[in-house]
Amino acid sequence: MRRLLPLLTVISMNAAGVLPQVRILSTGGTIASRFDAAKGGLAPALTGAQLVEAVPEIMKIARVDVEQIVNISSSQMTPEIWLKLAARANEALSHEEVAGVVITHGTDTLEETAYFLDLTVTGQKPVVVVGAQRAPSYPDSDGPRNLLNAIRVAISPEAAGKGVMVVMNGQINAAREVTKTNTVEMETFKSLEFGALGVADLEAVRFYRAPLRRQTIPAGPETKLGRVEIVAHYAGADGRLIRALLREEAPPDGLVIAGTGLGHVNAAMHDAILEALRRGVAVVISTRVYTGRVIPLYAGKGGAIDLRSAGCVLADNLSPQKARVLLMLALTRTRSPEELQKIFAR
Ligand code: ASP
Repeated sequence: MRRLLPLLTVISMNAAGVLPQVRILSTGGTIASRFDAAKGGLAPALTGAQLVEAVPEIMKIARVDVEQIVNISSSQMTPEIWLKLAARANEALSHEEVAGVVITHGTDTLEETAYFLDLTVTGQKPVVVVGAQRAPSYPDSDGPRNLLNAIRVAISPEAAGKGVMVVMNGQINAAREVTKTNTVEMETFKSLEFGALGVADLEAVRFYRAPLRRQTIPAGPETKLGRVEIVAHYAGADGRLIRALLREEAPPDGLVIAGTGLGHVNAAMHDAILEALRRGVAVVISTRVYTGRVIPLYAGKGGAIDLRSAGCVLADNLSPQKARVLLMLALTRTRSPEELQKIFAR
């Protein structure tokens, strides 16, 4: 049996001498994958209960109960599953004895799920999303320690009020800020602009800062999320993808443009975006640049000044995939560009 807990770890019990309770919601991903000879590659196979059983140290620090939500690769994650996860997390946290929720998840879309839950889980108790870069069958799998660390953060008194966090590779990152930065390395989840909130190191869970830009847009299992597509801008883009979407029988409710630089598109994309606005589609301008805000600085067709005055919403510093998540939820409240802009500015 691998020993993960250092000797110095203080086991946290409440006043009654009872270990804190954590609900694990399990969804699959590499952390739960095995080599499947028939399929010729890794595939989700292990249940959440099996993940917990493989790390006996967990039982020394927490009482856990596990709910299997799905068992999929997170490239197959859907907004319907997000709604279910939000409902199950809120239900779990409504029990006084539950200290926090941990969600095991594939890394591909982990940051989208984390941000959706950051927006839809209410209350102050911690929610931690965790995955692995190396499947359990590898000798250097990071899954067991990541899972243990996720539970350590979920029961940490310092984690209260920090929203949804991603805990991997010993680092704690805020859902709104974190992104996957490397396809294979274990050090992949980073908050590129502002850094991690804290660490789950060999001795302790310690926070050094708190996320300030948080908001809640509650959603229930029956919520009808807006349908939002992401369209990229690049040299020579001609807007045909936007026009193809507008020709659909039911065009999307919203578009996120992964613009260039400060949030720019060329003249052809500008024309297509204006057509989308005329058709009542909400358009949010983000950027493909990894850090920094979309700013109305440059004049001319397709600059952020022009796009904003045409009725587009600027995404602040949200990545295109996070802007999409926020727009899907914001569209359940309003379609007004002014109101949407207020939500994106929070
Ligand atoms: N394909 C996997 C997934 O996202 C990758 C991972 O978990 O790291 O489910």
